[in-house]
Parts: sequence; structure tokens; C-alpha cells
Amino acid sequence: MKSQSILIENGKIAEIGPLASKSKSADETIDCEGKIVLPGLINTHTHLPMTLFRGLADDMKLEEWLTSKIWPLELKLTPEACHYGALLGCLEMIATGTTTFLDMYFFMDEVAKAVAAAGLRAYLSCGAFGEEGSDLERKSKENTKQLMKFLRELNNPIVELAIGPHAPYSCSPELLMWSNEIAQKEHAILHTHLAETRIEQARAQKDHGMKEIEYLDKLGFLHPNLVAAHCVWLSKNEISILAERDVKVSHCPVSNMKLASGGVAPVPEMLENGVTVSIGTDGAASNNSLDMFESMKICALVHRAHRWDATILPAQQVLDLATIQAAKALGISDKIGSIEGGKHADLIIIDARIPNLAPLSENTVISNLVYSANGHNVDSTIVDGKVIMKDRTFLTLDENTIYDRTSECARKLAEQLG
Ligand SMILES: [Zn+2]
Repeated sequence: MKSQSILIENGKIAEIGPLASKSKSADETIDCEGKIVLPGLINTHTHLPMTLFRGLADDMKLEEWLTSKIWPLELKLTPEACHYGALLGCLEMIATGTTTFLDMYFFMDEVAKAVAAAGLRAYLSCGAFGEEGSDLERKSKENTKQLMKFLRELNNPIVELAIGPHAPYSCSPELLMWSNEIAQKEHAILHTHLAETRIEQARAQKDHGMKEIEYLDKLGFLHPNLVAAHCVWLSKNEISILAERDVKVSHCPVSNMKLASGGVAPVPEMLENGVTVSIGTDGAASNNSLDMFESMKICALVHRAHRWDATILPAQQVLDLATIQAAKALGISDKIGSIEGGKHADLIIIDARIPNLAPLSENTVISNLVYSANGHNVDSTIVDGKVIMKDRTFLTLDENTIYDRTSECARKLAEQLG
């Protein structure tokens, strides 16, 4: 739409149209002349406090990356470090136009406090792990129950619970199904990692005599409220099962490329089969940014490079994956994901009078947003009708304190790692 105004009332989009006369009685008016208003972007897979590890462990093989760096670093994490890491992640998302995200990590009550202070919309899950009967499994269940209690008390309508069994290879079948039951009972999103690497699929074959998604289907784990990150190593039969069970896939192209998980997720086949696909950045240790504009562009390019086909995943479709399809993945496409009357006002404003977006016309705007824009072209961010960044000034968070505290936390962590 061109030359329209958007009236926001009580956190929702009340009206769209030529509303110049109404602007006189508004509490606040934002002039968007020469700017583009988009629905806020939705990141369907991340680990917010991992911003602390940004740049600490790069250029390594996946197994070595996990065993010699990430897992030892995670053992040293404190609630305070997770809080400031989450605040840094919030700053980056606000700055780059993400208004809603799905997260999984540790000390999630500290993440919830950070997200509530930032004013972002989020679904938060505790990463759960452990073999059957192990202390780790018991602790994981406790952590999830504690997060449920904490979010209930926080009572913030835009910070909601998700349930996060880490992956089929790191959770006992009992823990997977316990998580599944809680998610169904609480009407919460079930959030996990699936089929990220070839080694993982080989292990499923060895342990269960079948592919990972076939194993989960047999367990009864696959439901429409499941958001599964990665889904790189899939057979045709597994794609059919995901479609049949209406499982939502969070495609993380940058993380998959950086960690050299091998192969490219069969996103065109998933879309052809009717699977709801959205985009995730994954944590900042494996990306290393949370910029969804960057992930959109790489999503569009990686499948073309892989297939030698410049026509797959056109710009509009990629933008849809990061907005309305992602809203569908989270079960809230009636509430966010597009600019429509009655929906929550989760909006971003992009300055188009900037070298990489000029010249602007109706014919080039979508292409330019996907192929030329970057997150730092966003100049204002609005969530649930509340302006949380205006003209590139953060209105809810003190950025300098966050830079100082996260530098300190990251330095301590690096020292402990030796
Ligand atoms: Zn992940």
C-alpha cells in the first residue's frame, strides 16, 4: 500500500487508510514519509544469551566447537550473565527489526526479565536434556516447571511459555513425551532441534532402526504445536510425515552453513509438500548475528546456489517466511505477521532514503527489502503498539550499560575457559 496511515489504539491496528485528519487528535504521530512500514520480523529459533559467546569460538568443526568450547562455556554461565546476554540479544533484535522470537536456553527466568524490560514479544523455553532417570533429566523437568511458575507470576501477555526438549538424541523418550504432554496441556509451543546433522541421523538409525522423524512419529511426539529447528537431513518420507502431522520447521540457513552441518535443508520440497516453514537465526555463537534481514537474503541465495535455479524462493515468498508464515508457525497468524486491522501493532519502520535502498518504487520495494536491506536500515520498532526504538534510539533499554556488562561477562567466561 502507498501513502496510507496506520492508526494504533490499545496496542492494536485500529484503522488503515488516508487518516491525516485523525493524526491531529493522536497522542503521538510518526511521520513515515520516505519510509517503509513492515510487519515486525519473527525469529523462530534462537538462544538469546549466546550473544555472550559471539566470536569466542569460530572456525571450528561442529563436534569440537561443542565439546571444547560451547559446552564448557555453558557450564560456567551464571544467572547474571544470562540476563545481560539476553538484554544484548534484545537490543540487537530491536535494532534490526525483529519483534517476536522463539527461544530456548538456561536461566530462562532471567531471560524473561530481560525480554519483559525490552518490550519484545517472545516464547521462552528451558532447554531440557537427559537420559531416563538421570539427575540431568530430573533437573530439566524442575527448570521447566520453575519457568512455568515464573511466567505465570510475571503475567506479561507478550512473554509466553514454550517447552524445549533439546533434541531427540539428547533427551530420553520419556523426557520427550513428558515435554509433549506439558505442551499440549498448557497449549504451549513445543520447541526442539531436529535432523541437524548426518551424524544425528546415523545415530537414530543405529539406536532406533529408523530415521529420526520416523522414530518421533512412532513415539507420538509430532503435533501441530511443534516448531522444529534445522530439519536439514530429511528423507522424502520424513518430509511427508512432517506435512501430515503439521509440524512447523524453523530453517536456520546461516547456522547450518557456518557450522558446516553439510547439505542444504530441503526447503523447496517441504514447501511443495505444504510444510509451514519459517526462518531462525539460531544463537549468536553459530551465526553470529541475530539480523533477520541477513538470514532472509541468505535463505533466498543458498537454495539457488545449491539447485542452480534462480527461480526458487522468490523475494516475496522469503519475506512471507519471516512474517506471516512465522506467525502461523507460532499459532498466532490471526494476531501478528501482517499489517491488517484488528491485529497487534508489531511494526517496523525502515528508512528508504538510504543508499542501499534507493531508488524506491512499488516494483522494487520487496526485492530491495530482501536483497539489499540490512537490519540496521530499521529506524523505529513498535511492539504491541509501544514504540521501543525511535529514530534509532532505544527507548526501553540502556544500551551502554548492556555493552559494558556483557563485555565484562564475556571476558570472565573467556578467562575461565583458558
Ligand atoms: Zn539451536
